[in-house]
Amino acid sequence: MAHNRQGINRNVYTSIPWKGNGNRQFPSWTAFYFIIIIRNIVMNRKFIFLSLIAILSFFAGIISFMPTDAGELPILKNEEDQETGFAVFTEDGDILYVNNIESIERSITGSITVIADGIKISNPIGIVENPPSKSIMSIKDKVIKSLSSNNQVLIIYIDGLGYNLYRKALDLGIIPYLESLGKAEKALTVYPTITDVTFAAMVTGITPKYTGIHSREKKLLEVSTIFDEAAAMGKTSKVIEGNMQIITDEVETLLNIDENGNGTIDDEIYNVALEELKDPQDVLLVHFHSYDDFAHKYGPGSDEALTQLGILDSYIKDLLDNYDGDVIITADHGMHDEGESGAHGTFSESDLFIPIWTRVSL
Ligand SMILES: [Zn+2]
Ligand SMILES: [Zn+2]
Repeated sequence: MAHNRQGINRNVYTSIPWKGNGNRQFPSWTAFYFIIIIRNIVMNRKFIFLSLIAILSFFAGIISFMPTDAGELPILKNEEDQETGFAVFTEDGDILYVNNIESIERSITGSITVIADGIKISNPIGIVENPPSKSIMSIKDKVIKSLSSNNQVLIIYIDGLGYNLYRKALDLGIIPYLESLGKAEKALTVYPTITDVTFAAMVTGITPKYTGIHSREKKLLEVSTIFDEAAAMGKTSKVIEGNMQIITDEVETLLNIDENGNGTIDDEIYNVALEELKDPQDVLLVHFHSYDDFAHKYGPGSDEALTQLGILDSYIKDLLDNYDGDVIITADHGMHDEGESGAHGTFSESDLFIPIWTRVSL
């Protein structure tokens, strides 16, 4: 068989004139067929072109109007402190609250378009259905309201304490003092759910689109903060931080290190805060870090992280017992399990919801 096939092949090759013994003369019959083919193509060029366009349009149409898989655009259903409608997190760091989502479409290139209340939103990050009415941006309004009533205000900021974990800690009886204060409101934070981005939104009352802070890259906050507005009202402010300033602005910031080497800075921060409360500034923001640190290392629901929450609960009791002003207890973002440890930054139920508890003094 192999011999026969070789024989046939040899015959085919030798029957083509320019393959034979160096004769490269263009054969007239081949030219004739070639010209016929070219002529047909030229004659039918328009037809072929239009047919191609029609076929491509047909497939593009099918693809672009295919309903999007739920997995491609995260849609979180909120079931607590809910409002009707949707919160659409846009690609540029904003949150748009809409009443209706008319359609979600995926184009041939894979980009997603949401039509909501007649507005076209390209490539959103995700959607929260029935979002809570409060968000991390609500904190600024609360602070301004307190200052306008000539009340001082203390913001206790527990890094990484998402709403889910807060509820879990309540259920486990780990935070009895916070439990005695009554339930915090569930609120949205901004995306990406990382400290610099969410902290900037907290103190400015605007989304990352307008703060310009979208990452951990240290950038000067060029928009007005609660501390700037307090100053404009003739009020004083101070921030008690860990070992570095997170948002870059002009507010006086007291930095702390783990002086006693016990593996957490929260005790140092607590002591400085207690000292400050003897003669408090009009706005005092106390940023506790160790829940986030332990949750990263051991997981958000780990014994280590929950024990630190219990310690914070007792610190908060002492701080509030020594303070008569208005109080806001909140967080910047939540945290999710990642293997044996914890992480945040995603558009997920665990990362995106925070508690906000408020005490307004009379
Ligand atoms: Zn954080
Ligand atoms: Zn963190």
